[in-house]
Amino acid sequence: MSDCLFCRIVSGEISVEKILENDEFLAFSDIDPKAPVHKLVIPKNHFSDLAQLAKADSDLSGRMNLFIADLAQNLGLDQGYRIVFNTGDWGGQSVFHVHGHLLGGRQMSWPAG
Ligand code: 5GP
Ligand code: ZN
Repeated sequence: MSDCLFCRIVSGEISVEKILENDEFLAFSDIDPKAPVHKLVIPKNHFSDLAQLAKADSDLSGRMNLFIADLAQNLGLDQGYRIVFNTGDWGGQSVFHVHGHLLGGRQMSWPAG
């Protein structure tokens, strides 16, 4: 999808700081970090949100969770972290290519805003 920002990142058209990558997923630094550690994890194929991904390919969705867990471990987030999938307008989603935010490096507050 040439009009999708994150597909353009996957294709290399837009450069990012890559953190971890395999055949299916890419992790990169968020351009506007909200915590000392703020990475985005995306599947390389396009799905609009987590629900669409899970319905289309639940195995891929499960492997995405494992990829995020491996990323958190690689980054040394032993004290904990937060994973956020903003979904839809009211969920605060602004890029409609499913992505998990991995946030860490500080104490998180609750509830999220
Ligand atoms: P959302 O609001 O959809 O949950 O999250 C989108 C995230 O993408 C935001 O945290 C935003 O800072 C990040 N973002 C938007 N454009 C770019 C970009 O060009 N490069 C990177 N690395 N992150 C981006
Ligand atoms: Zn996309």
